[in-house]
Amino acid sequence: MRARQPDDTPYAPTVRALFGTDAVTARTLDAPGFHGTTFHEIRARSVLDRVPGASRMPYEWTVNPYRGCAHACVFCFARKSHDRLGLDTGPGFDTQILVKVNAPELLARQLASSRWQGAHIAMGTDVDCYQQAEERYRLMPGILTALRDRANPFSLLTKGTLILRDLELLAQAAEVAEVGVSVSVGFTDEALWRGLEPGTPAPHRRLDAVRALGARGIPCGVLMAPVVPFLGDSPEQLRATVRAIAEAGAVSVTPLVLHLRPGAREWFTAWLGRHHPGLLGRYERLYGSGPYAPHWYQRRITRQVHELAAEFGIGPVHRSAPPAPPAPLPPPGPVHPPGAHQHPAAVPPPGAVPPSDVLRPRVPPQPTRLRPAVPTRRKVT
Ligand code: SF4
Repeated sequence: MRARQPDDTPYAPTVRALFGTDAVTARTLDAPGFHGTTFHEIRARSVLDRVPGASRMPYEWTVNPYRGCAHACVFCFARKSHDRLGLDTGPGFDTQILVKVNAPELLARQLASSRWQGAHIAMGTDVDCYQQAEERYRLMPGILTALRDRANPFSLLTKGTLILRDLELLAQAAEVAEVGVSVSVGFTDEALWRGLEPGTPAPHRRLDAVRALGARGIPCGVLMAPVVPFLGDSPEQLRATVRAIAEAGAVSVTPLVLHLRPGAREWFTAWLGRHHPGLLGRYERLYGSGPYAPHWYQRRITRQVHELAAEFGIGPVHRSAPPAPPAPLPPPGPVHPPGAHQHPAAVPPPGAVPPSDVLRPRVPPQPTRLRPAVPTRRKVT
């Protein structure tokens, strides 16, 4: 392992400016599982992030101990956030991880403040808090302990099975506060998983986590995200996925169709060009007018998934519902402060169809062309 001193990393000035911190240490690891990953350890001055009032997300506060994500999902729109750090949105996002090493102590202090009113806190809304880095830094146990000790309500969304390490803490927190847990599984197709989510645990392992959470008395929903047009949306694939979700004991399933915002769009399109060049034209037509699939397509997927969910017995009719997860389907519209990013699975696109099938107005699509983009470097995961 190599460690560099604070002023030795080229990103230190940007990180200091963004996070208001004096300390930035970069560590490049060659250990198994972390090969080629550089962790930028920062001592942040605040760990509670306020979602601006203009946001239509149903929570106001988030805690995000990491930036960048070695789960390396090709479609991850949080990639764009690395732009602001002067890092690239491809391999840089997968291998240059910012770590707020003082997040637990900072959160405990902020929750204890007389100014804190005990509002709901959403986690996993920027990048995955149970990504590989968490194995090394173990920030979540301290964060969960701080939340439990203050009986503060919170929700978590993850594609990581590492959440099971913290099962007991989650159960303890759920005894004193509202806790919502969701796991993100967009498809069960193994080939698609290897291609699109190369750093994540396999879908069946994530569903095992859903099962284990339920068995421990923590009801878990599944955010079925993303549903990938033409690659993961056949009736057979949707059926197989919803069936597996039901068998895992999920208490809810919410579909979310792939969206392609700048930052993710380039990488996804490059991947598509390499692996499925024959689909470029169809994607051009589906996403030609903006980052979101057309409303009719989203409605179709939602209807199919809801019908399958009813057939397989998922939902509050069949089980008691959990406290709300990080609200996968709030009203559409701008959801981030400029430049801020949320876990893709937690952010519904404008025009997303809520479970009730009640449609709300969409944000008008911006004219955008879908072009194959060639990454400047090979993806390293
Ligand atoms: S989609 Fe979620 S799990 Fe995948 S890279 Fe992005 S933040 Fe990580």
